[in-house]
Amino acid sequence: MMFRPLLARIDISALQHNLQQVRRFAPNQKILAVIKANAYGHGTLAAAQAWPDADGFGMLSLEEAIMLRQAGIRQPIVLLEGVFAPEALPLCAEHGITVVIHQAQQIEWLGRAWLPRKIDVWVKMNSGMNRLGLPAGEFQEAVEKLAKLPAINHLTLMSHFATADEVDGVAMQLADFMVATAGMPYPRSLANSAAIVGHPDTHAEWGRPGIMLYGASPVSGRPPKHWDLRPVMTLESRIIAEQRLAPGDAIGYGATFHADYPMRIGVVACGYADGYPRHAPTGTPVGVGGHRTRLLGRVSMDMITVDLTGLPDCGIGSTVELWGKQIGVDEVAAAAGTLGYELLSGMTARVPYSYL
Ligand SMILES: *Cc1c(COP(=O)(O)O)cnc(C)c1O
Repeated sequence: MMFRPLLARIDISALQHNLQQVRRFAPNQKILAVIKANAYGHGTLAAAQAWPDADGFGMLSLEEAIMLRQAGIRQPIVLLEGVFAPEALPLCAEHGITVVIHQAQQIEWLGRAWLPRKIDVWVKMNSGMNRLGLPAGEFQEAVEKLAKLPAINHLTLMSHFATADEVDGVAMQLADFMVATAGMPYPRSLANSAAIVGHPDTHAEWGRPGIMLYGASPVSGRPPKHWDLRPVMTLESRIIAEQRLAPGDAIGYGATFHADYPMRIGVVACGYADGYPRHAPTGTPVGVGGHRTRLLGRVSMDMITVDLTGLPDCGIGSTVELWGKQIGVDEVAAAAGTLGYELLSGMTARVPYSYL
């Protein structure tokens, strides 16, 4: 029995289907499935176990990477921001966890570290995003220095795009990276989801898809079915109460929505403390009993209110889809002025999950 009718259903077969789709776009690449942020809200271990054929996993947390090793995950695991202190390096080596090196201090840490085993390293160049990465002018020297360190096993070169979702969004960064790494005998990795679907010239040896694996759109404005991606998470709840409004009556905090005609309202057990976006306005699509209806008034901490006026067969107990196969997470995100990325990764700990 569940005490509150809110549930995130995770469709494992959709996770697997989406990885197959990545392979259709990038048939000759190795795929580093990105599972940071609790696998974009889907559950780190469940996602890793759903992809026995992924070539590796990208994430941020060393603790979670070790958890995956202890759960029997054998593929390469890349810490996308590397380590934050030198003490973490021996642990990475012990568990066979690859580190990204994106700044000079991390090279010094590696040079001074005593490691129980050799370690794999991905060296990151800043090609224009100006967030993480060694400057182009220092890249060659840094790679040569790393290649000489006895503690290092395999090297891979990487960079990350700022505007891969735009038509001409990768040309400059790609050119600068290829020039800075010309002649280096190492595999390369550049492409996130948007580059995998939109820029085949960036594919190189390793792709790093995240969002498309979860069936949300890598290019805003285009639905995931454009690339035959299937939504993985369905966030569902039920109507727990009904209200009738007379013309002029208002709903919820701030009394931001007023009825112009007699209305029937459903109260849904899901609010911003569950990860539903507080800024979703009146009109945001909501699925009720298989119909499409709309959010009315402000999102509360634990509840939202929806329009049941035209839905005589819906009432207390009716199922509600906040997002999933009927209502795309990208649609809800667009209404709330954000991205599917934020909604999926913003799921909160009080939401129960079910995997099938
Ligand atoms: C998050 C991330 C990705 C995945 O990006 P998507 O847009 O979700 O495909 C790839 N590479 C790095 C370095 C990342 O941080």
